[in-house]
Amino acid sequence: MTAISSAPSPATPAGLGLWRTAQLLGVVATAILLAGLVTQPDLALDILWNVLIPLVPASLLISPAIWRNVCPLATLNLLTNRSSVSRTLTPGLLPGAGAIGIVLLVVMVPARRFLFNTDGLALAITIAAVAALALVLGGFFQLKAGFCNAVCPVLPVERLYGQYPLMRINNPRCVPCTMCTAKGCIDLNPSKSIAQTFGSARRSHAWLLNGFGVFAAAFPGFVVGYYTTQDGPLATVGSVYLHIAVWALASYLATVLLVWLFRASAVRAMVVLAAAAAGLYYWFAADTVTTAFEIQGAPTTVIRVVMLALVAVWLWRAVQRVTRTNSRPVAHA
Ligand code: SF4
Repeated sequence: MTAISSAPSPATPAGLGLWRTAQLLGVVATAILLAGLVTQPDLALDILWNVLIPLVPASLLISPAIWRNVCPLATLNLLTNRSSVSRTLTPGLLPGAGAIGIVLLVVMVPARRFLFNTDGLALAITIAAVAALALVLGGFFQLKAGFCNAVCPVLPVERLYGQYPLMRINNPRCVPCTMCTAKGCIDLNPSKSIAQTFGSARRSHAWLLNGFGVFAAAFPGFVVGYYTTQDGPLATVGSVYLHIAVWALASYLATVLLVWLFRASAVRAMVVLAAAAAGLYYWFAADTVTTAFEIQGAPTTVIRVVMLALVAVWLWRAVQRVTRTNSRPVAHA
């Protein structure tokens, strides 16, 4: 099987039309969601957290291009692009931009417990603020250099789950590629995005000190930490962050120990960490989703079996591809 790589290729006119329609629907759906979060918060929160969001990790395992092609924030980010703007995401800006995205993620996800899971207005304001940020940054940077490939809080998860997609899907957003992002663009090559993010640190255990490496190593514990806390009032903010931080730290330390014990390479560790985080996510999320719709029992088991099977297939294919890549003769740059 060929590696999934290459510059974005043009979609067929019919394919392009379908993607454009999906992108427009994404923006319209977001506007409806924002209105719903204000006027019908219980319903809108249920649909967002228990229907739409649980689909995202699975779609990233299948191909990050699915989400990246229809994400409404990406559509807004590209809406304000102007061909006269030449500012790109240079190697010097990449670590800082990536760190901002990771910080936004680890601040915003726990905030679901004491705010966003129950307060539709607060969530609507936050989504609108992030959308405004995507719009503004789109006007100052080329294509996805200002938001999608930089400070987007979903980017770290796209990078982790999207590293070995099960399907090859075109990227019609930016054809031709202008190299708006110096390195690590998932659209260009999802399988090399993490390695390019690590740089030379991937050849030793130094990746464990890289910003994305710390995130990836801590992420399985972060997932467990989130799902072993409960929704509560704003006063629980401290205990929520502390609980999740302890789990994330335990996950990071366990990863360091296992990498050291098994002398695991960065590329193998990334595959295992992605599968562990996705598997844990669906194990817990299945119960949360069915509880929300009061259909516990067999449906919980069905969701777990289906999603864990998807993760298992993803892991098997990823390990095959890692093994095949490692067995090739080393190409000297
Ligand atoms: S580097 Fe920029 S232009 Fe090229 S595929 Fe990635 S996002 Fe698109």
